[in-house]
Amino acid sequence: MTPDEYVQTVRDEIVRLSIQHTSADQLGMAITSILNAHREFPIYDECDHEHDQIDTHVADIEDIGLTCNKIKSACSLCCTEDGGGDYQDERCADAHTSDCWPCQPWLDAGDALSIPRPDTQHRRR
Ligand SMILES: [Zn+2]
Ligand SMILES: [Zn+2]
Ligand SMILES: [Zn+2]
Repeated sequence: MTPDEYVQTVRDEIVRLSIQHTSADQLGMAITSILNAHREFPIYDECDHEHDQIDTHVADIEDIGLTCNKIKSACSLCCTEDGGGDYQDERCADAHTSDCWPCQPWLDAGDALSIPRPDTQHRRR
């Protein structure tokens, strides 16, 4: 399953559990609030094309302009300055050599729910 499918599956499973078990509701709420703080943060670089509009593969990035060159997916909380900043932090740029998304809290939640890990080049910190 892709990272996007994985994230959706974890969310769906939390919803399903919280509907079935009232006692799981608080657990689900706690997990969901953590997971809502960890969002996909795509990182782009310049590309060699001339893009004149934004479409599904093209983003408009400050300092770069229109680009389709997505280097990887990181996490908005784990991989940006001050957690939730606008720029990738140095630790991520230096140490996170492959995709950072879904990040560890998502993988932990998925593991707890027995959801198979997504297909990414996998790393553990
Ligand atoms: Zn391009
Ligand atoms: Zn994260
Ligand atoms: Zn990272």
